[in-house]
Amino acid sequence: VENVVIIGSGCAGLTAALYTARARLEPTGLTGAMPGGLLTTTSIVENYPGFPEGIDGTELMIQMQQQAERFGAKVQFGSTVEAADLSERPFRLTVDGAEMLAQTLIIASGAGHRHLGLESEAKLDKKGVTYCATCDGALPMFRDQPLVVVGGGDSACEEATYLTRVGSKVYLIHRRDELRASKIMADRALANDKIEPVWNSEVVEILGEAEDKVTGVRLKNNQTGDETTLDCAGVFIAIGHVPNTQIFKGQLEMDDAGYVKRVEGSQTSVPGVFVAGDCS
Ligand code: NAP
Repeated sequence: VENVVIIGSGCAGLTAALYTARARLEPTGLTGAMPGGLLTTTSIVENYPGFPEGIDGTELMIQMQQQAERFGAKVQFGSTVEAADLSERPFRLTVDGAEMLAQTLIIASGAGHRHLGLESEAKLDKKGVTYCATCDGALPMFRDQPLVVVGGGDSACEEATYLTRVGSKVYLIHRRDELRASKIMADRALANDKIEPVWNSEVVEILGEAEDKVTGVRLKNNQTGDETTLDCAGVFIAIGHVPNTQIFKGQLEMDDAGYVKRVEGSQTSVPGVFVAGDCS
């Protein structure tokens, strides 16, 4: 039986690993399929305190892991929790097909990219539809082509700004006429003359050639109802996240969106199960 199992290896999971290791609780961290979490898919992190010049996302996560390991945290690479039974202690996890028992559990499984939910989006996934500009932006199919970013938050602004280095032009499609992003990120995007915002607009279909290459998007203006078509070679979707908590559904108190509720501090509704970070 493991004493403390931490699910997730993003900032929250590795911080939990650091603190529980220093408390001599002998934590085991399971990285999941994406060691280091979503920050490893970003370029430079500008707003993490202590790094005045910014720091590469992957580099930051490697340092957090090394810091936790220095105090004795065990980190198991690629280990994915497929099922969990929280009905009694020790808690029973299925990890890569094998059983693992945990006296205490810390859920830090983070969140994944939200999808628009269009049939054409699923069909053209990885054929020009992507959820990560820094991961896929350098692909030859996007070079010097018009590109579309969907969303109005910090992620959308960051992706749009990044993609101006790749594409001939970047359309930023947002469903309202005002960005949700922080002022500094929004100003940077809107000041870039390669970025053209398209306000009050929703993507109703992603257009493709023979289902293997994006050629454009069909947009609907939600104020006038007018539909238009924009030519583009790539659609970068940055409309927020959904928490990775499906395996705990019905076993822990959650809100309607699937975020795990805290009842006191980081304690969940099940004694011995704690939650941290973007899934809480
Ligand atoms: P977010 O802040 O939740 O923004 C999501 C955006 O997508 C919103 O503008 C939202 O529109 C739009 N949206 C949501 N569902 C949609 C749908 N079905 N169709 C069309 N548009 C939709 O998400 P995020 O930008 O990924 O940011 C997540 C968190 O990470 C935030 O706290 C953010 O500050 C942080 N972050 C920070 C940085 C940084 O460098 N500081 C970079 C990236 C992310 P509405 O505005 O109309 O709701």
